[in-house]
Amino acid sequence: EPKVSGHFGTMMGWADDVRTLKVRSNAETPLDAETAKRFGAEGIGLCRTEHMFFDPERIGAVRQMIMAGDEDGRRLAVEKLLPFQRGDFISLFRIMAGLPVTIRLLDPPLHEFLPHGDQELAEIAGVLGVDFATIQRRAGELSEANPMLGHRGCRLGITYPEIYEMQARAIFEAAIAIAVETGAAPVPEIMIPLVGTPRELEITRKLVDDAAAAVFAVHGRTIEYQVGTMIELPRAALLADKIAKSADFFSFGTNDLTQTVYGLSRDDAGKFLPKYVESGIYDKDPFVTLDRDGVGLLVQMAADKGRATKPGLKLGICGEHGGDPASIAFCQEAGLDYVSCSPYRVPVARLAAAQAAIGNRVDRTS
Ligand code: PEP
Ligand code: MG
Repeated sequence: EPKVSGHFGTMMGWADDVRTLKVRSNAETPLDAETAKRFGAEGIGLCRTEHMFFDPERIGAVRQMIMAGDEDGRRLAVEKLLPFQRGDFISLFRIMAGLPVTIRLLDPPLHEFLPHGDQELAEIAGVLGVDFATIQRRAGELSEANPMLGHRGCRLGITYPEIYEMQARAIFEAAIAIAVETGAAPVPEIMIPLVGTPRELEITRKLVDDAAAAVFAVHGRTIEYQVGTMIELPRAALLADKIAKSADFFSFGTNDLTQTVYGLSRDDAGKFLPKYVESGIYDKDPFVTLDRDGVGLLVQMAADKGRATKPGLKLGICGEHGGDPASIAFCQEAGLDYVSCSPYRVPVARLAAAQAAIGNRVDRTS
């Protein structure tokens, strides 16, 4: 089925014939997934599940989960989200029709999921049946001065395992539902965010494997799946050989990796960074184009270390750099298997990947 017709389609076909990097897209919504597919994406490289929770009904359940005083309360709140998540994943699997779908377990900006203001605090207190002061105290204990370097990613999944259990269960139930519906089982790639130490991946991987076993036992059938990790902290890159032992794939989260390598907040980067670029202190905006002497070095190191442990380990990138042509050329050199970018950048990424492959060929023969 032609993605685009006419001369443009022909040219894109040539690009696809020469490139070796796969191009996937970041997508959470059915609309994003459909757009990505129309632009030629060969799978979803990053589904940020936290974006699925901002709906008022859902965020209420997340708040209850976070503010519940015990495991039972948390489990109860999280159960409310299971049918929503199952439906979300069924839609994505159906649209992507057998193409790979990488689902990242919750990487919440915790501050956005905490109750704010007296009204929200009072509401949560009412739902949970505890007094206002208790909820106020709990919210105070959870609030952080630096949320982007705080209780995020797998740290939250490990301290509140109910949420990752629920998401894993929803993914496997959705995959089985699609297998029954279409006769072809999707192969979900479950991705753990903000891993910085091998133990974090071991713990979360076990949690996912246990959820899989439980769902498979109920349904009397199994499906294939993979569990991998984001490499988005310097420590993860430094320990990539050890982390690779429990990973089926790595995906480089170069937004957070740039933030932590440069010690530069990704949320405030617009403030003084342009001056640094103008004056040549930085030769380019590091949040746009991967450098080769800092973040790029870590990416290359982690890729090599990962494959030293597991030859053929699947490697991708899902930070913003995955849609930037100069960074795509670097990804080709580093030996990555795919890039993942926002849907509208997919055509340019396909061309850039072709350019990178041809450039390499010329270099080798000259
Ligand atoms: C990243 O950090 O590069 C990434 C893809 O994750 P997020 O942007 O959601 O933090
Ligand atoms: Mg990140």
